Amino acid sequence: LAHRPTLAAVELARAPFVQTEWTAGPVLATEAPVAASHTVTNPANPEEIVGEVTFATADTVAAAVAAAQAWDADAAERRRILNAAADLYEENFGEIFALLAREAGKSVPDAVAELREAVDFLRYYASRADATPPQGRFACISPWNFPLAIFTGQISAALAAGNAVLAKPAEQTSLISARAVALLHEAGVPRAALQLLPGEGDVGAALTSNPGIDGVAFTGSTETAQLIHRAMAENLAPGAPLIAETGGLNAMIVDSTALPEQAVDAIVESAFQSAGQRCSALRCLYVQEDIAESFTEMLTGAMDALRLGAPWNLSTDVGPVIDDEARQGIASYIEAARAGGRLIKELPTPGRGHFVPPVLIRVNGIAEMEREIFGPVLHIATFKSSELDAVVDAINATGYGLTFGLQTRIDDRVQHVTDRIHAGNVYVNRNQIGAIVGSQPFGGEGMSGTGPKAGGPNYLPRFQRHDADNAAGAWDK
Ligand code: NAD
Repeated sequence: LAHRPTLAAVELARAPFVQTEWTAGPVLATEAPVAASHTVTNPANPEEIVGEVTFATADTVAAAVAAAQAWDADAAERRRILNAAADLYEENFGEIFALLAREAGKSVPDAVAELREAVDFLRYYASRADATPPQGRFACISPWNFPLAIFTGQISAALAAGNAVLAKPAEQTSLISARAVALLHEAGVPRAALQLLPGEGDVGAALTSNPGIDGVAFTGSTETAQLIHRAMAENLAPGAPLIAETGGLNAMIVDSTALPEQAVDAIVESAFQSAGQRCSALRCLYVQEDIAESFTEMLTGAMDALRLGAPWNLSTDVGPVIDDEARQGIASYIEAARAGGRLIKELPTPGRGHFVPPVLIRVNGIAEMEREIFGPVLHIATFKSSELDAVVDAINATGYGLTFGLQTRIDDRVQHVTDRIHAGNVYVNRNQIGAIVGSQPFGGEGMSGTGPKAGGPNYLPRFQRHDADNAAGAWDK
């Protein structure tokens, strides 16, 4: 998949007017009221209308939960249909790429990787469908930053285990989710086993507080996970499982033995790919003091080579952020760093569209970062060799634990640091990016997540009704 559709897809993704508009709305197994519709615009060109979306209401949610029926097909049939859905995703790559570019601002390489991951999820969870009897009704609530891959991963795991799914996509990416659900239905997933409830947080809240829901798979911010945990505790049966994949404050340590070219490559990709809108993205870089000056120069030089632009241009490395609200939030954070004299490097941005310049900001340490900035913002700190353990402690003290990177050529140090770091996914001498479905499951520790890792063998059997030991400990605070 990585190679086959690329050239044709590039043509389609680059021709933004192949299809002028898409529509989306609740996809239900029953009749129910819906809310008024609104327009979706292109993040790289906000004057361009991409489609129309109708949101669900609390009444839509109640009707959908009542109409949901677990998928009672046997395991072989579930496997066949999920694989057929994977085939349909691949066949429809052109439209999917165009949607990923125009609704979510995904660059061509990002869109290729995302479709591939979605297909991998479908085939992987299909392969793990077993004879477990139909289970329950699962709410799958997803973020906008991987609107196809994460959305599809959650749904296909729950479906493979025979659950009924009520999918609540992020409000920013309803069109992509509607196309995905249409393909899953076309492949043969029954409507009562997969319903779509587009909408904002209120729709998610209505779902997670509906006593008819048996469990929740959530990916998004830590704050929302906390709200969901509370709503579930108050309204759902005791022990209803919550699988939550949430935010992070991800760090990388580069010591003076690291190969500088390799480290710079890994850093630029980890911090700025997808305009930094990845939960796995590198946020805080620690460079050993004795190489810091030359290393920073190399890094800022590599940043200069990044090209910002429209996602459908082949030469684009960094596209827009998702919407104007995100742009403003990140821009004001950068302004504060500038005012404090901490901005080391900033790239120029294209004039229109929701673009944020990739930046490098000086900090004394990760403790200065209070929250995840979900954009192309990299922080840099230095450390002395004698401070290595203190740096690891500071990273652990954030309470997050999603990804961590280490660049070194000292074997003992790899062992020493990786033994101590609290992170769900650790990357040594390579780029710090995401999951590899089936071989590198992805998930965080502490405030970064709870429950089994996505894309791994345990994700699906944990979808048990009233699985008491899967309670969300990290959100009890
Ligand atoms: P978000 O938490 O704002 O929204 C996620 C989803 O939750 C959306 O569908 C939203 O409508 C819904 N929601 C909002 N309020 C709700 C409520 N009260 N009850 C139920 N649902 C509600 O996150 P986002 O901005 O869409 O995504 C970015 C965040 O996701 C970042 O923090 C990022 O780190 C995280 N993320 C984590 C992973 C991972 O695997 N750990 C992957 C991708 C993104």
